[in-house]
Parts: sequence; C-alpha cells; structure tokens
Amino acid sequence: MTDDQQALPGVVVVGSVTADLTTFSTRLPVPGETILGDDFTLVLGGKGANQVVAAGRAGAAAHFVACVGSDLFHDMIMDGLVDAGVDVTHVRTVPGPTGIAHIRVDASAQNDIVMVPLANAALSAGQIDAGLDALAGRASVLLTQLEIPAPLAMHAIRAGSERGLTVVLDPAPASALPDDIWRHVDVVTPNETEATVMTGVEVTDVASAERAGRWFLERGVGAAVVTLAGAGALLVSPDGARLVAPFPVEAVDTTAAGDAFSGYLGAALAEGATLDEAVVRAAAAGALAVTVRGASPSLPTRERVHAFLAERPAPEIVDGSRA
Ligand code: ADP
Repeated sequence: MTDDQQALPGVVVVGSVTADLTTFSTRLPVPGETILGDDFTLVLGGKGANQVVAAGRAGAAAHFVACVGSDLFHDMIMDGLVDAGVDVTHVRTVPGPTGIAHIRVDASAQNDIVMVPLANAALSAGQIDAGLDALAGRASVLLTQLEIPAPLAMHAIRAGSERGLTVVLDPAPASALPDDIWRHVDVVTPNETEATVMTGVEVTDVASAERAGRWFLERGVGAAVVTLAGAGALLVSPDGARLVAPFPVEAVDTTAAGDAFSGYLGAALAEGATLDEAVVRAAAAGALAVTVRGASPSLPTRERVHAFLAERPAPEIVDGSRA
C-alpha cells in the first residue's frame, strides 16, 4: 500500500478468494467428452478478491478478511492482492487447498463455472470480528458478497453495522436471506438476475428494476443500485429512482463488470462521495472492465477511471419513472 493510499479512508471486504483456472476452446465439451482447447489462464479471482482489488485500484485503503490455502496457489494469490495495494493482514492461511473456480469459455464467450470453496469454508465469525476490531477507525465501508457461507455474510453485515460502518452488499450469487438482515444493509447492488431471484420481481427493464429496488427499501435497505449491464444502473433510494446511463464502450468480455462496479462504489463512498457520484464512478469502472478480457486483469486503475471520466461528458442521470 502506498503512502497516498494510507491517507485515504478504507474499505474492508469480507469475502471469497479463488484461483481462477480458465480454459478457452471453440466449443464446450458435452458430458463425457474430451476436446482440445486453445488457451489457458490462471489468475487471482473470487468475488471478494476481485472487489477488494477493484477498491485498491480505486485508491482506497483496501483491507481483505478472507482465507487462502497453503498450496501452490497461495503465493500467486497473495502476490496479486499485494500488487493491487490490498492490505492482507487479515487474510488467513489455512492448511490445505485454496478455493478454485474452474471456468470454461467457448468462442462465443459463453462460459460455465464450477467454484469449489475449499479454504473459503474456513472463514469464521471470530476472524471477521477480529479483523473489524483491528481495523476500527481505518475503514468506513464494509463490502461483502454471497460467495462465502450465508451465515458468515450475515454475520459480517451485522458486525459492520454494529460498528457504524456503511454496509454494502453485492448479493451475488443470489440466495434467499432472512428478512431481518436488510435493515443492516446501507446499499445493495444486485444485477438483473440477482434482483429477480431475491425479490421475485422479474427485472427486464427500468420499471421492473425500480420495483425490485423498492422491495429492498421496504425491508429496510438504505438504497438499491440495480446494475443493468449495457443499459447502465438504476439507483433507487427514498428520494426516488435515477437511471445512470451507460458509458458507451466496446464490450469484449463482461466478466467482473459487477465486481469493478461494487469495488469502486465502496471506495468512492469511503472517500466521502455522494451515492450519485459513487454510482457514476462505479459505472465508469464497470464500463472499462468490459473492454478488457478476464476478471481481475480487467479491473481498471484509478488513473484510467479518472481519465475516462475527464474525457467524456457526465452520463445522463434521469428520473427512473421517466426512463
Ligand atoms: P454483473 O457483472 O454483476 O452482471 P453488470 O453486467 O450489470 O454486472 O455490470 C455492472 C455495471 O457495469 C453496469 O451497471 C454498467 O454500469 C457497467 N457495464 C456493464 N456492461 C456494460 C456495457 N456493455 N457498456 C457499458 N457499461 C457496462
């Protein structure tokens, strides 16, 4: 972490970390079949790691509470986190294998993924509490996702809320949560699929995204940001609904757009940005992420996002009910 980053308020991410093993082939094999592929990559991944890397690249003091294994992936993961400026003091090494994501991508960019949690299953409430206590006064935002066991994500949300942190939940992958958790969440950032699964409102356009956003608000969430991929993001708060128009970019690979978005949103809120400003910065980061292939390699730097924002007019923000 640089001196510059030390000076900025921090984001603590409680989440998953994996080694992402990706094969690229013309088509995906059918069950029982072996085919020859064209390429292979091995990179740092996991929603928690991607979002803490995004927050670190955004310039926030980014602290990670997670578990990595003691196998050959350990050093690659720790080096990747440290290179992105992430504080790894609260990343615990546990004996055994690191979590992995086994990803297959075909020529049309269709993919399938098997994620095996492995070391991630060793994350505990005690580790989360110890991390948050040690970081008291150094982080103002807690960011988590649902790739860790749901009871631990719930614990992180409650523990962050009790300590006065701004709690941001990226509910990915979507799963049903107990109703009493929502009042501890300040900002929730589902994509269309997650919003649909969690609220029962089928999100197909801005109007349905607004209805899904209201579902979260009715349960006590401070604000919902429904990400709409190439259609932008809808911010639903007690003040109303605002659609942040998408930045026009040429999409190459949409992997990790949501991680770039959530990481930048958390970092911007920690810096004291308003929610509207934070969503614009997050949308710029999400747009830049789709212009580069891969997950963590596509997470943009602060300099790139600032240059990108400086080069073009601010995105149109329109009243959701008129979008
Ligand atoms: P997820 O990866 O979680 O499915 P989205 O695909 O909704 O998330 O992307 C998150 C955000 O990234 C969007 O709200 C948008 O701001 C930005 N984004 C994603 N895809 C594009 C795109 N093709 N063009 C411009 N912006 C995009």
